[in-house]
Amino acid sequence: MTFSVLKCPNCGEEYNINRNKYTCDKCGNILDVFHYDMKYETTKFKGVWKYKNMVHPTISEDKIITRGEGDTNLYRSERISKYAGINNIVMKHEGENPTGSFKDRGMTVAVSEAIRLKFNKTLCASTGNTSAAAASYSALAGIESYVMIPGKNVSTNKLFQAVSYGANIVDIEGDFDNAMADVKKTIDKTNDFYVLNSLNPWRIEGQKTIIYEIMEKSKPDFISFPAGNLGNTSAFGKALMDLKSLDIIDYVPKLLAIQAEGAAPFYDYIHGNKDHIEAVKAETIATAIKIGNPVNYKKARRSMEFSNGIVEKVTDDQIMDAKRVIDRSGIGCEPASAASLAGVLKLRESGIIDSGDTVTSILTGHLLKDVSMMPEYKVLKISDIL
Ligand SMILES: *Cc1c(COP(=O)(O)O)cnc(C)c1O
Ligand SMILES: [Zn+2]
Repeated sequence: MTFSVLKCPNCGEEYNINRNKYTCDKCGNILDVFHYDMKYETTKFKGVWKYKNMVHPTISEDKIITRGEGDTNLYRSERISKYAGINNIVMKHEGENPTGSFKDRGMTVAVSEAIRLKFNKTLCASTGNTSAAAASYSALAGIESYVMIPGKNVSTNKLFQAVSYGANIVDIEGDFDNAMADVKKTIDKTNDFYVLNSLNPWRIEGQKTIIYEIMEKSKPDFISFPAGNLGNTSAFGKALMDLKSLDIIDYVPKLLAIQAEGAAPFYDYIHGNKDHIEAVKAETIATAIKIGNPVNYKKARRSMEFSNGIVEKVTDDQIMDAKRVIDRSGIGCEPASAASLAGVLKLRESGIIDSGDTVTSILTGHLLKDVSMMPEYKVLKISDIL
């Protein structure tokens, strides 16, 4: 029979899922969800819950809080192919999710779990998109959300979403890393809150479905995406391990985790071959990946090792250059998302990706998430076009 436990990826210790733990009592590592006797059988649902048997096999359907997230589109563009020097490159647009980012995929699972565990308050730290998703799904479930937001570091549009969905806003001095530290302090003191950051292993389960969808439709050589708190990096490797262990795929695509140069502790950790990640003071225009002390770095390393993947870093100029191409192609994305294309271009130029390779790049957020940098444009008069 299928059942799930919380399992330490470091020492193997297991915990009942009803205990609502994030870290291992024995070694302090962040826990994974582990499904015994997992089966790749899809359900009647669409999107994330189509893969219920791989995500949360035992939760009863009446506990599921969903807005029909997932099942996002793939886009091809000649402009993007030319820019990257790769014929076969497609963009998977996670900005098409209900609140405009991939965070909805994790949130539908985590908030459903909060309901299963009978919590009535959720808590998260956020660079913006997590709080938008947390606020929406908590409201849909009829429970209160609290979001710790580093006021000066969040786009107005994302804050607008969280406030509109009725979140309680907790203002934090400093940046995302300070907010995350405050979340940890809070849950050390009280059990009132269900935490929705990606240290919550159920979010990782939901985000795995991005990879299930990609691998169901295609066989890319590379999958690129922006990497900040490393939730996706962790989820994507775990999804590939799932599919490989069940013989659903017969090869493993290489994961390309792309960081912003001013917020690249994972790049330094992997390339420096260090035991521990060293926190940095993050600085980048791409606020969704402006994270200097990512919590999921060990699970993320496992993903890179399993997929024989590459961690690359790109400058803010390279990110904004790639964003302009994505925007002008008619697809559009928020700044952080464009790192996925900027990284591909860099790896193409250095010869690691060949022009004949197939690439899927993940656009993590919607164009309208951040409108603070209006592109230059010219205003015409009617007489100019007559
Ligand atoms: C959260 C987020 C990221 C970073 O994802 P991680 O899983 O934290 O690495 C990138 N882009 C957007 C738009 C995001 O909202
Ligand atoms: Zn452990």
